[in-house]
Order: sequence, then C-alpha cells, then structure tokens
Amino acid sequence: MNGTWAMVFFDLVIVVGLVSTAKAVTDRIENDAARWGWFIALSAVLIFALVAVPLRVMLLRQRHLMVSAANQARRAAATDALTGLPNRRTTDEIVQALLADGVPFAVAICDLDHFKHLNDGFGHDAGDKALRVFAHTLRSVVRHGDVVSRHGGEEFIVILPRAQKCHGADVLERARLELAVVLSDRPCPAYTFSAGVADTSETSEWRHLLELADQRLLHAKRLGRDRVLASIA
Ligand code: GH3
Ligand code: MG
Ligand code: MG
Repeated sequence: MNGTWAMVFFDLVIVVGLVSTAKAVTDRIENDAARWGWFIALSAVLIFALVAVPLRVMLLRQRHLMVSAANQARRAAATDALTGLPNRRTTDEIVQALLADGVPFAVAICDLDHFKHLNDGFGHDAGDKALRVFAHTLRSVVRHGDVVSRHGGEEFIVILPRAQKCHGADVLERARLELAVVLSDRPCPAYTFSAGVADTSETSEWRHLLELADQRLLHAKRLGRDRVLASIA
C-alpha cells in the first residue's frame, strides 16, 4: 500500500469514526425525523470541521511549497551561482526582448586579463573571489536598468539600453578605474580586464553584435590588455 492509499484509508477511518460519534450522540433523540436531521447535520459539521478544513489547509500549504520550489528552480536556472548575476540564457532573453521592442542598446564583452595566472598563482578560491569582486564592481558602475551578466568563465556581458557604444565605452572605462581602486583596498591579488564594445547602430543581429564586440575585445588583448575598445582603428 503506497502513501496515498494509506492516507485515503486513514481519512476513511476518521470519517467512519466521526459518523459513528454523530450516530451515538443523536441516538438518544426519540423523534425519528429530528434524530435523522440532527444526525445528518452533526455528521456534516464534524466532517467539515475535522476533515475537510484541515485537508484544505494541508493542500494549500503544499501548493505554496510547490510554487516557491518552482520559483526557486526558475531563479537558479536564470542565475549564475557564483556571482548571482543573470546567466547567458537570461541575457539572450533580455536581448531578444530589447530587439523585439526596437530598443537600441550598446553591448560590452569583458574578459579578465591573464586570469589563468591568477588561478594558478593564488588558487581557485582566489579566482572565484576575483570573479565576485569583478561582478560587484561592474554592477556598481552601471545604471539601474542596465544588465550585467556572466557570459561564462571569466567573461561578462554588459547591456546598456538606449546607449551608444561611445557611452558604453565610457561606462566600461569607469569600471576599469573603479576595479583598480577596489582592488587597492583589498588584500587580494590585483588583476585587470579588457573589453570590446558594439551597439545596435552597427547591426541589429545579436550574434553579429557579439562578434563585433568580441573582435574589439581580442584587439584590446593584442594591444596589451587592460583597455576598452569600441572600434578597431
Ligand atoms: P587572457 O588575458 O588572454 O584572457 O588570458 P586568460 O588567462 O584570462 O584566459 P584563458 O582563457 O587562458 O584562461 C581563463 C581561465 O579562467 C581558465 C579557467 O580556469 C578560469 N576560469 C573560468 N571559470 C572560472 C571560475 O568559475 N572560477 C575560477 N576560479 N576560474 C575560472
Ligand atoms: Mg576568456
Ligand atoms: Mg581572460
């Protein structure tokens, strides 16, 4: 007998017990019609109060638990666990919504410089901490409504709705300076990042936009890292 059938059996026993109690109480009434009337009324009240209401409360509680578990799973699927930032899938959804609404935007791809050296030299935990500090620094320089997400590994994406790439480059430049300040205040290894910026005036195709930003990022790496490029001169 599985759990569900055991519960049904248990409920049935309770219902039978309540009906028997109602019968025992109302058996003392001599008038037949009144006895039946009281028996039915008492049975209904007992079953409603002691079975139906607790059952309903239990079901509502279970439904609430299921809804919060589903919300938690949805949040986890949309978020990067290490930094708490939206993940790549969420960024794609946000971008598709911006494109569908015809909202222009600038995009920056940021990549930590020589991050492998940091991991190798100071350990994976120090690397993880550096990723969290970087995520926090990016968030601290953008406006409400801008999107900072983790694209994967040590790459991050910044989406700036209604901004041109020159404004995007200014914001990322601010992040570059802010990161240096933040790291100088902390007992952790110093690191820098490079970024490439593009905007929707160049192409309205997301994949192409990412490619443009990525080409500029690679060029920034080739030029010596620790810089933000919005074009390849
Ligand atoms: P470059 O300046 O050219 O970008 O060099 P790089 O060393 O940053 O690039 P590379 O692609 O060689 O190395 C990226 C490193 O990022 C390697 C990988 O172990 C590390 N990494 C990726 N994801 C994580 C993470 O979640 N935590 C930690 N600690 N390290 C990560
Ligand atoms: Mg990389
Ligand atoms: Mg890197």
